[in-house]
Amino acid sequence: MSIPRVLVIAGSDSGGGAGIQADIKTITMLGGHASTAITAITAQNTVGVQAVHGVPTAMVMAQIDAVAGDIGIDAVKIGMIGSAETALAVAAWLESTRDVPVIFDPVMVATSGGKLADPETVAAFSRLMAIATLVTPNLPELAALAGPGDSDAITARLAARHGCAVLVKGGHDEGAIVTDTLVTPAGEVVRWQHGRVETRHTHGTGCTLASAIAVALAAGIDLPGAIEQARAYVRAALLAAPGLGAGSGPIGHALGGVPAAAMGED
Ligand code: PLP
Repeated sequence: MSIPRVLVIAGSDSGGGAGIQADIKTITMLGGHASTAITAITAQNTVGVQAVHGVPTAMVMAQIDAVAGDIGIDAVKIGMIGSAETALAVAAWLESTRDVPVIFDPVMVATSGGKLADPETVAAFSRLMAIATLVTPNLPELAALAGPGDSDAITARLAARHGCAVLVKGGHDEGAIVTDTLVTPAGEVVRWQHGRVETRHTHGTGCTLASAIAVALAAGIDLPGAIEQARAYVRAALLAAPGLGAGSGPIGHALGGVPAAAMGED
């Protein structure tokens, strides 16, 4: 089989921890080819989002058409979508193609607290959820999408309403054990647990997880297997975080880097 090709539709993070930068590093490390449609440029570091410049919807769609018409796409990963107009245009394009897995990370705020989606954009998320294979909210995003209530019950309702699988990430919860819960549209539940990695450097974990799942699906791995593999990569990258910046820094996508010996150095 040729290299798994993932089209990432997301925003740029100048700090290199999240967004398109995290997506490209993750997909590359896991053996895939990342192509990109950039929806917004953020001026951002580990302590905050200083500015956001949206890319016009027509330019986002031109990037998608350029990739689809030549390189080809085995899976689509959607992160920060930029605007309601872009969300609706991307949804319409996906509705007309419908032939590859779609992972939608419903990005609303950066790890530092900076806003990355306005209320109109969040309202347009339902069109993207309806076309997604998997949606990957963290706990605050789940509450914003599904309202208050018992986490399992509102997740099941969200999955059934939009006909997509939902993976709720437990990293924002408290406690030494992190639980991620997958609920399928039919209501089946699968849980994964691991000990929490104690670090403030968690910037980009959501982007990384979703991209790692997308590249595994693009390679033909089934959904539970893809999630298993993606969680292992995020955990390894958390443990390898280089400790940059005064706030929530990037994780170690290169997992510690290439040893000097492997580069032919003494
Ligand atoms: N997309 C962009 C462009 C971002 O800057 C961020 C966070 O800063 C995210 C997505 C979401 O990041 P995380 O993976 O930490 O949820």
